[in-house]
Amino acid sequence: MVQIDKKKSADGTLHVTIAGKIDERFDPAVVLCEARGKVVMHLAGVRSISSLGVRAFEQFVQALPEDVVLVHISPAIASQLTMIPNLVGARAVVESAKLPFTCPACGAEKSHSVPFRAGASVEHAPKCACGGYMELDGLPEQYLPA
Ligand SMILES: [Zn+2]
Repeated sequence: MVQIDKKKSADGTLHVTIAGKIDERFDPAVVLCEARGKVVMHLAGVRSISSLGVRAFEQFVQALPEDVVLVHISPAIASQLTMIPNLVGARAVVESAKLPFTCPACGAEKSHSVPFRAGASVEHAPKCACGGYMELDGLPEQYLPA
């Protein structure tokens, strides 16, 4: 199941939050009928995206009237994007990815948003409550552009 929430901000930007699983049943009609200008998509809650879901999402982005900004993309989306960089084509700018971090000193875990670019998991590593810096739980090339 996928949940789609939308909210228009004062400047006319449509903010769309997508959560759950994106698969072949992904139906963005509720967004397409309201998108007149800029769209910002919040994707931290997308747990998984199937290969047919990737196609459906790609078509959705192409169908939007203007360019799209993707923010806080989840690990599931980030790993698809690093494998298929053309996934969202030239129509979408990926601003940030919300990725899993762990603390090597105390073992604490948390999700943290970093810019979607090479080296960001180190440059923008979150500070742990214990005082140390946290490390990405996984390989940077798994989630971020090389
Ligand atoms: Zn710690």
